[in-house]
Amino acid sequence: MAEVRFENVTKYYGRNLAIDDLSFTGKEGEFFSILGPTGAGKSTILKMIAGIEPVTSGKIFFNDILVNNLPPHERNVSMAFETYNLYSHFSVYENIAFPLRAPKWKLNLSREEERKRVVEVASFLGIEELLDRRPQALSGGQKQRVSLARALIRKPQVYLLDEPIAHLDAKLKFLTQTLLKEFAVKYGITMIYVTHNFREALALSDRMMVLRKGKFDQIGTPEEIYYTPKVDFVGRLVGEPPMNMIDGELIKEDGKILFKAGEYFKITIKNELAKSAEKVARLEDNKLNVRLGIRCEDIKPGMQKLSENSFQLPVYAVVHEAESSVISFELENTFLHVRVGEDADFRRLKISDLLWLNFKQDRIFFYENTMKISKS
Ligand code: ADP
Repeated sequence: MAEVRFENVTKYYGRNLAIDDLSFTGKEGEFFSILGPTGAGKSTILKMIAGIEPVTSGKIFFNDILVNNLPPHERNVSMAFETYNLYSHFSVYENIAFPLRAPKWKLNLSREEERKRVVEVASFLGIEELLDRRPQALSGGQKQRVSLARALIRKPQVYLLDEPIAHLDAKLKFLTQTLLKEFAVKYGITMIYVTHNFREALALSDRMMVLRKGKFDQIGTPEEIYYTPKVDFVGRLVGEPPMNMIDGELIKEDGKILFKAGEYFKITIKNELAKSAEKVARLEDNKLNVRLGIRCEDIKPGMQKLSENSFQLPVYAVVHEAESSVISFELENTFLHVRVGEDADFRRLKISDLLWLNFKQDRIFFYENTMKISKS
């Protein structure tokens, strides 16, 4: 297995900049995910690792070997892309066995050895009964699992998976995700995994990179990304509902620093936190503008006033989910979402009821405004 390292890699398609001076390392034996919205450059990264797309500038290393000039067949990677690329004139069995038969790997397996490996990976992914079919006779989800089986059958230097479970229904997605994780842990493989789904990235990764417009906003463990998003974009992309973002200003009152948004929303900010807020605040029209971020589970609602720092808002909407509910409140330019457990009294809430809200001070973050926030 190999480490994959990017050093100042840039990629243009014509005049369109897709990857912008990007450096990162997917470590040996690591499940490394790339998470980002459509067009961020995720697939381009995988294609450059595979050698299907050349880099415009910069270097790609497998361990310490520069691979820029190696053609795809000399890079020893295994891929599964969202579009399945199955051979329609081959059976499912032959599609999965294809990489084992490729002369370049010189595996020279006997028919029995080959069958054993194909059946093993097919039964692992729950598609053993499909082996005699042609791809045309498969559903989208079945094709996707065949494509995944074909990618997993060989042990390459690195696996490259691009949205490999996007077309599975929710139950199968969860099951396949669990299998993938099991596979990765069992064989200690290097995996570079592309997804636009934050839940997949959080569930599977040892570390993950959040990509936006060809650059990364943050690289870290799923815990770091979820609990300490470095920029507002990461907080919004990772989490459902997305991290609450409130645009406001820092003001001083009686020697204290307060965060104020609109007429009624005002909370005191502790000293250490105030320092981090001042660092990212921007002075405009004599106001110190800043964006406050807080996760929905870090706002505590109550029927009674909880502290000097609590404030009251009317309920805008309540959505009951399986084990919790999300209560939404309307602020001037955004919604504020608060998650509560089912044990609480909140099931009986009605629209416009007033609730007291208290922000956990150690879970408040301040950000520069790097993206437009809309009501969502
Ligand atoms: P993602 O996988 O994150 O959706 P891509 O890597 O596919 O992003 O695309 C990154 C950017 O490069 C996008 O702006 C996309 O339109 C552009 N792009 C991707 N492939 C090509 C191509 N073959 N020719 C021209 N532009 C491309």
